[in-house]
Amino acid sequence: MAADGEVAHILAEDYFKFGIDPASRLGQATKRGPITEDHVRGVQAFIRAVNDRWDGLSPRMAETRVDIPGLQSKGRIDLKYQQADGLWIWDYKHGRTWVDAVENWQLLCYAVGALEHYSVPGAIHLCICQPNSFDPDGPVKVWTLTPGEFVIYRGRLLAAIAATKDPEPRTTPGPHCLWCSGRGACRALGAAVAAVFDYLTGAEYVPASGAAVGLELSILDQAADLIKARRSGLEADALARSRKGEPIVGWEVVPKMSNLNWTVPLSQAADLADLAGVNIRKEALLTPLQAMAAGVPAEIVEAVSGRESYGFGLKKSKSPEVFFNG
Ligand code: SF4
Repeated sequence: MAADGEVAHILAEDYFKFGIDPASRLGQATKRGPITEDHVRGVQAFIRAVNDRWDGLSPRMAETRVDIPGLQSKGRIDLKYQQADGLWIWDYKHGRTWVDAVENWQLLCYAVGALEHYSVPGAIHLCICQPNSFDPDGPVKVWTLTPGEFVIYRGRLLAAIAATKDPEPRTTPGPHCLWCSGRGACRALGAAVAAVFDYLTGAEYVPASGAAVGLELSILDQAADLIKARRSGLEADALARSRKGEPIVGWEVVPKMSNLNWTVPLSQAADLADLAGVNIRKEALLTPLQAMAAGVPAEIVEAVSGRESYGFGLKKSKSPEVFFNG
């Protein structure tokens, strides 16, 4: 998890466990960097999203460890609680890469682990709160499963886990590879990327219909995901080899630097700048989206804000996915 995400998770955990208001900690230093307005705003949006759906009484458990059945691994559930309308499992994402709740296997793993020794409740709500990734439907995505649907998905998950024990496990590359720690060494992913390369360098093909254009756009989007996953895996492999002294031909290892950040509380930095006669305190208004995330009702914001069209783009519709299978 990136440092920003870790800071935000610390704020969320402290709110749900100890009731500490994130805003009261603005500017404080943590071992992962200072707490900024961005962290506070994101976690406030998470708190509001949860409180809007919580019955106000049921105990909430933050940052609970969960064993994933059949895997020698554990997960950490950001927040869970059970109330009359079912089990709620929340995952807060501070990053900008859009993540859906529907068929989210990370959340399914958490649910399967959380319910391993319990009967399945009347509904399971798997929720993502992602305030920094723009979605016209808002930052909260909830996938609600009936007990029957949950049992079917649990079966698929356990079967997939069992299949990984096969001496020759079948691997299917896809966007999920981006989060796989084995992506640098995975043959199936390497083969899929090679197939993409062949396709791109060999294609003398002009799509003849809207259907063909749409299909090729989908393939290219998926290819981009595969290449990104493979590249980040190879980069990790190259860094590991380089640490052991093996040269990586054509490449050198250089430090990655973050943006320049204050390492003291923000108020202290501002006081120091005052000594130089410069006021560095921002007095900017929140953007309309930030205002909604901060709790201003959408009707009020929408009455005094708007968008301007500056051309047209494409948005993925809900169509069947096609993946390279290596
Ligand atoms: S990199 Fe290979 S093993 Fe990892 S998820 Fe992708 S296909 Fe599966």
